[in-house]
Amino acid sequence: MALSPKNRFAFFEGEIVPIEEAKVSIMTHALNYGTGAFGGIRAYWNDKDEELYIFRVLEHFERLLASAKMMLMDLPYTKEDMASILLRLLQAEGYRSDTYIRPLIYKSDPIIGVKLNDLAGDFAMFAIPFGSYVDAEEGTRVAVSSWRRINDNSIPARGKFTGAYINSAFIKTEALLNGYDEALVIDESGHVSEGSAENVFIVRKDKLITPPVNADILEGITRRTIMHLVSEEMGLEVIERPIDRTEFYVADEAFFCGTGVQVAAIIEVDQRPVGNGKMGPMVEALRNLYFRVVRGQHPAYKHWSTPVYASQTAPTPATD
Ligand code: PMP
Repeated sequence: MALSPKNRFAFFEGEIVPIEEAKVSIMTHALNYGTGAFGGIRAYWNDKDEELYIFRVLEHFERLLASAKMMLMDLPYTKEDMASILLRLLQAEGYRSDTYIRPLIYKSDPIIGVKLNDLAGDFAMFAIPFGSYVDAEEGTRVAVSSWRRINDNSIPARGKFTGAYINSAFIKTEALLNGYDEALVIDESGHVSEGSAENVFIVRKDKLITPPVNADILEGITRRTIMHLVSEEMGLEVIERPIDRTEFYVADEAFFCGTGVQVAAIIEVDQRPVGNGKMGPMVEALRNLYFRVVRGQHPAYKHWSTPVYASQTAPTPATD
């Protein structure tokens, strides 16, 4: 993939500025206490259309604003405002390649004191050219983590809080140091919750099964996309229910999904091959469908893709 030069701009403190100017104080509350929340959005380059398409942009900002609400953060931006700032940012960058977008909201007051109320909040964002998040999208080797997933009554996994990602970092690090690509993590009830930064599905007898939203998962936008595509386009049943660890050992197929990881086949769990130890036909078909959809190549799902450059050149309404 041809990469553009690195990012030149950021949205910071209310305006688009050169990236070098987007800096916070060492006293910033979010830096000290993890009181921020972030998003991860992808935009896909479509060669034929000569267009960069942002995937499900409003859903991502809606989730970010839900994290803001949980953190008692009142921001002067709607999800639509955030989307139009993103369009301006991407138009300024001018990328003609796949792109990853990182919006960030954070408690910006430079004060000492652990709390969420009566603190100023701010919104920042940058975007970088980006390919794969994991190297092994077609064959991820996984182990069940010795760490537990954070619980809704301690740090809600439903929010994408910056501080909460120390849990993901412990999970992912253990997996990497033990020679695996990723991990599955168990929730307090003893069932599989998700990966370090991705939702998970198994396939058993032509049915897809994924943990429910109260299994301490992030409510993934890719998860929702997959559930829709699998039932509408592939005619398969999707069930949300708790999944036992050993169901992975006997599953026909399994996969991770998320904005970063996209759709990644899990081929091994705890040294047992999933199915025959290779990416299975369902996951392969789903990956092909997913990439057509996110790249803006599937006519039925164009409404999930927001064009970056056409929005710039859209005719303005006549004033006379
Ligand atoms: N779970 C966690 C913990 C994540 O960090 C992510 C990545 N945002 C996901 C699931 C997948 O969410 P999405 O499909 O919205 O990117």
